Amino acid sequence: MAPNVEIVCDEKLDLGEGPHWDHKGGVLYYVDIFESSVFKYDPSTKKVNRVVVDKQNKTPVGFVIPVADTNNKFVIGYRNELAILTWDGISPDPTNVEVLVGVEPGTTNRFNDGKADPRGRLWAGTKAKYHPGEPEVRSGALYSLSKDGKTVKVHATDIGISNGLAWSSDFKTFYYIDSFNRAVDAFDYDIDSGETTNRRTVFDLIKNNVEGFPDGMTIDVEDKLWVATFGGSAIHRVDPVTGSLLQSVSLPAAKITSVAWGGPKLDELYVTSASRFDTEENRHAGRLFKVTGLGTSGGPGVPVKL
Ligand code: CA
Repeated sequence: MAPNVEIVCDEKLDLGEGPHWDHKGGVLYYVDIFESSVFKYDPSTKKVNRVVVDKQNKTPVGFVIPVADTNNKFVIGYRNELAILTWDGISPDPTNVEVLVGVEPGTTNRFNDGKADPRGRLWAGTKAKYHPGEPEVRSGALYSLSKDGKTVKVHATDIGISNGLAWSSDFKTFYYIDSFNRAVDAFDYDIDSGETTNRRTVFDLIKNNVEGFPDGMTIDVEDKLWVATFGGSAIHRVDPVTGSLLQSVSLPAAKITSVAWGGPKLDELYVTSASRFDTEENRHAGRLFKVTGLGTSGGPGVPVKL
């Protein structure tokens, strides 16, 4: 069966990002970063609920991940802070936002992509302000959050745009994207300590003639990576062991930002996109897509344990 791409949400987002499938609730969460917005999409009703976290200042929301064993708490990247959003999933306004910890004070850097490791330990990285065509500033970093939610640990510095994160099924490898590198890197990972070592490149987009910048990423049950390309109009299945490109699926938008497995069988790939910086006529830019018929599946979104 050839892959099928459908538009699941008509709304054109500015910078749609961070899809996270909540398997227990059967819903997809995602964000529109500079609209300070978190969305909940329920495929059973096709209904979308949106909360604007900071109506007044539009504080950027880089990612959203549910907190384990709660039904109304989420960890969000909140400009250069990590915060707990309390939201009932329905109201257009949040119940509460409580900051946990901040990083990189005195900069205009902000948190970008984030994900929980298979044990629920939060990982998230930052980036400097950047517009396409400007000089690349590498002042971001990659962090993990302590279990008490009060401190962060630095795992990598000199990061350009901290993006996709994924863990192998044996938890021994952590895959990571700094978009400026046009590559996917891997670290050896110790799931007990949360330590990373031996960073190396496992997939080079330029060598594989892949257009665009690598952005969000997930992994499938066969330990192959799925990489969204910003400016590449596609998602790509990659073998991180051989460094080869296995499959590409085109989407009807140039700036594909991230991917997450979802659906009852976890075989549907939800894909976010952006209309930001769009100069050309790009009719479906910023929409939420769903790709089916990929012949594989993945894991559900992992909630953060605090
Ligand atoms: Ca991203």
